[in-house]
Amino acid sequence: MKKIAILGATGSIGRQALDIIEKNPDLFTVTALTAHRDSEQLISLAKKFGAKYVGLTGVSGDIELEKKVPKGVDVGFGIRALVESCAAGNPDIVLIAVVGIAGLPPLVECLEHGTNVALANKESLVCGGHIVKEKQKTSKSELFPVDSELCAVYQCLKGVDTTGLRRVILTASGGPFFDWSKEDIANATVEQALRHPNWNMGKKITVDCATYMNKGLEIIETKWLFDISPEMIDVVVHRQSIIHSMIEYNDGAVIAQMGPTDMRQPIQYAFGHPERLESAVGHLDFASLKSLTFDKPDLNKFPCLRHAMDAISEGGAMPVILNAANEAAVELFLERKIPFGGIEQAVASAMSKFAHLKAGTLLEIYNTDTEVKRFVYNNLK
Ligand code: NAD
Ligand code: MG
Repeated sequence: MKKIAILGATGSIGRQALDIIEKNPDLFTVTALTAHRDSEQLISLAKKFGAKYVGLTGVSGDIELEKKVPKGVDVGFGIRALVESCAAGNPDIVLIAVVGIAGLPPLVECLEHGTNVALANKESLVCGGHIVKEKQKTSKSELFPVDSELCAVYQCLKGVDTTGLRRVILTASGGPFFDWSKEDIANATVEQALRHPNWNMGKKITVDCATYMNKGLEIIETKWLFDISPEMIDVVVHRQSIIHSMIEYNDGAVIAQMGPTDMRQPIQYAFGHPERLESAVGHLDFASLKSLTFDKPDLNKFPCLRHAMDAISEGGAMPVILNAANEAAVELFLERKIPFGGIEQAVASAMSKFAHLKAGTLLEIYNTDTEVKRFVYNNLK
C-alpha cells in the first residue's frame, strides 16, 4: 500500500490522480489533500478518501472549514500547508499538481526529507532547476515526471545507454491556433484560447499551450530532469498527441513512447513505479488512428517558444523572469485585461527590463518572481 499526498487535489491533474487511487484501492491510500480556495470540494474529497490532513492554500485561515472537517483531520492554511502536506502521515509519494511557482517550496521540502515526488507542476523546475539538481545529489527522493512529454522521455531513457544519444524530441500538439494567422492569434479571445484540441487541462496550462510557452517550459524541464543540454532538445508539432516524445541516437534510431491521450497514464506510471498497472484508460488502436502528422513549430507565430529558448541560453535569473512574467500575463489575459498577444509582449519586456536580477538562492528566486509579477500587474493591465 503506497501512501500518497496530493497537492492541488481539486485541479485537473489532482482529480485524475484521485481517479487512479479510487480504481486501485488495494494499492494506494491518501494522506493529505490541498486546494487553493474550494473548501467545500476539499472537505468532500477528504471524507471520501480518508485524508488525515487538508490544506487550503489561498487563505490564511477559515474557522468554518476547521469546524466542518471530520474529527482527527488536521487543517493547514497558506503556502505552509503545501509544505506540511509533504510530511503529514508520512507519504511515500507527494504529487505536486498546483499551478505556478507555488510548487517549488514543497518540491524542495520533499527532496530535503527523501520523499518521492510525482511532479506535474513544471514552474518549480523552470524556476528552481539548479537548486533541485544540487539537492538531488544527496537526496534519497526519486522524481517521477507527470507531464506526458517528460514521462515519455523518462521511459525512453530509463535503463538505456545514453552514449550516442543525438537528441530528445518533444512533441507539441500545436494548440488551438496552429493554423491561424499571426494577426488573428494576437486578438484571440479567452474562449478560443481555452479550446485545446486534444487535452482537457487547467486554464493556465491551456493558455500556455496556445502560446507554445508550455513547450518552452518543457524544454527547460527536460534540461534539468535529464541533464540534457538545450541544443540537444528539439520540438516537433504532432497534432494527434499520440507520440508523447522521442529520443534519437547518432545512428538514426528513434525510440518513441506512445499511448492514449490521457494524463491518467503518466499519473499511474508515477504512482505504480516500478510496477506497471493495468491501464485505466484503454489501449491504442493503430488501425483506427490511420495517420500521424509532424510539422515544424512556427517561432514567428508563437514567439513565446523563442523567448523560452532565449531564457535557457541566457541562464541565470532569465527562466524565473520568463516564468513570472508569463504567470502574471496569463492571469491578466484570463481576466480579460490584456489581449492574447499581450502575453508575449509582457514576457519580452520583462526579459529585457529585469536581466540584472538574481535567482541563485531560493530567496532570490522568490524576490525576482515577486518583482517581475508586480511590474506586469502594474504596467500592462
Ligand atoms: P488546475 O488549475 O486544474 O488545478 C490546480 C490545482 O492547484 C487546484 O487544486 C487549485 O486549487 C490549486 N492551486 C491553484 N493555484 C494555486 C496556488 N497559487 N497555490 C497552491 N495551490 C494552487 O491545474 P492543472 O491543469 O491540474 O495543472 C497543475 C500543474 O500540472 C501545472 O503546473 C501544469 O502545468 C501541470 N501539468 C498539467 C497537465 C494537465 O493535463 N492538466 C499536464 C502536464 C502538466
Ligand atoms: Mg506536457
